[in-house]
Amino acid sequence: MASELVCFEPRCRERFAITEAIYNCRKCGGLLEAAYTNAIDPVALKRIWRERRMSNAAIDQSGVWRYRELIPFLDSEARIVTLREGNTPLLPAPKAAGYGGLERLVFKHQGFNPTGSFKDNGMTCGVAQALRLGMKRVACVSTGNTSASMAAYSSAAGLDPIIFIPNGNISYGKLAQALEYGARTLQVEANFDQILALVRVLADRLGIYLLNSINPFRIEGQKTIVIEMMDQRDWNPPDWIVLPGGNLGNTAAFGKALRELREHGFIDRIPRLAVIQAAGSAPFYDLVRRPDGSALVPVGHPETLATAIKIGDPVSWPKALHEVTSSGGVVEKVTEQEIADAKAVIGLCGIGCEPASAATLAGIRKLTAAGVIDRGADVVAVLTGNVLKDPDYIYRYHTGQLEMPDGAAIRATFGNAPTVVPNDAEKIAALLG
Ligand SMILES: *Cc1c(COP(=O)(O)O)cnc(C)c1O
Ligand SMILES: [Zn+2]
Repeated sequence: MASELVCFEPRCRERFAITEAIYNCRKCGGLLEAAYTNAIDPVALKRIWRERRMSNAAIDQSGVWRYRELIPFLDSEARIVTLREGNTPLLPAPKAAGYGGLERLVFKHQGFNPTGSFKDNGMTCGVAQALRLGMKRVACVSTGNTSASMAAYSSAAGLDPIIFIPNGNISYGKLAQALEYGARTLQVEANFDQILALVRVLADRLGIYLLNSINPFRIEGQKTIVIEMMDQRDWNPPDWIVLPGGNLGNTAAFGKALRELREHGFIDRIPRLAVIQAAGSAPFYDLVRRPDGSALVPVGHPETLATAIKIGDPVSWPKALHEVTSSGGVVEKVTEQEIADAKAVIGLCGIGCEPASAATLAGIRKLTAAGVIDRGADVVAVLTGNVLKDPDYIYRYHTGQLEMPDGAAIRATFGNAPTVVPNDAEKIAALLG
């Protein structure tokens, strides 16, 4: 089973052994992606993947490794550590559909993952590769879902997780998970980009494997979000797949999965990707709108309360640009108010999600109003993170206290504040009507 790493730049396409611990092309600095030459029989695999749902074997129960024939970068299944990631539901949401201007809408909820976000789909693969390379330590620069997921999977695998966080930029809900899962956490007095440069030097010197968003094996795992989605839909692709865009790794993964599924004959057409960014952190939105859109211009001070997509300089933009363009997709941006209200509507469906995830529904509402997405379209929106990731945001929204760092208030359009009542049955009965 031949697999290798290939430079993503069309003019370069340099190839590297799958066992090289590199994150960028050594020749041109471009992004790397895994490429395979194994034979694929879609008819047989569709049947085998269904049968694995009834298996008691750990790797069959994993919603990532169940599809291992499409992510065949390992030479031995013994390296796999699974917390039963993936296996996330498709949830119909009529109320959200109406709000989004659609006749029907289904959410694929990645917040059902072991650590509460889609990062688990990728992390099980990144950690498997770290073990295969004989690494003892893994690291990432993040205060968010990546560190929570890396901490869990690497501790489960007996590796040492190290998290580097920018000073004074801490998201407690997610950091708490990383601490609980045993990650050594280093707060550095520098910004994100400076720390990333520092960590790259340390990685080479100390033999640390980097599990940042640029890691090509995490992208391989995230492909299974779309593979599982198609499996759950009996291989009928929707018209649109809508997802939030931050570092754009997920956009890259979804596009690669769709291309490979079509190449191998699992699906007969590719859904259009709609990537939604927060207006205060939307360099990818700007890129696709510039007539000479050749290179991304980073946003110096990204602002959004949806911290998972607060990324000014997304690393995976060349891949994402290719995938959005070749799927006939679009990029939209939405305001903080739009995200907050859409999130409350997803909550009212009994589903709930973290702020970044709600950018999807806010984006759908805008795209249907503009006539880009049809009312009758078949749409799947991917909710990337669990509702409990950011309880502070929720409480503030419902009690009318949510505001931006500059003090700009966000209206509690669907506010649901708790009411203080006296210890008096008569009065409470009157209140409840
Ligand atoms: C990481 C993350 C995103 C952004 O995904 P990218 O692949 O960086 O574009 C969105 N939502 C949640 C909840 C995340 O954890
Ligand atoms: Zn290259």
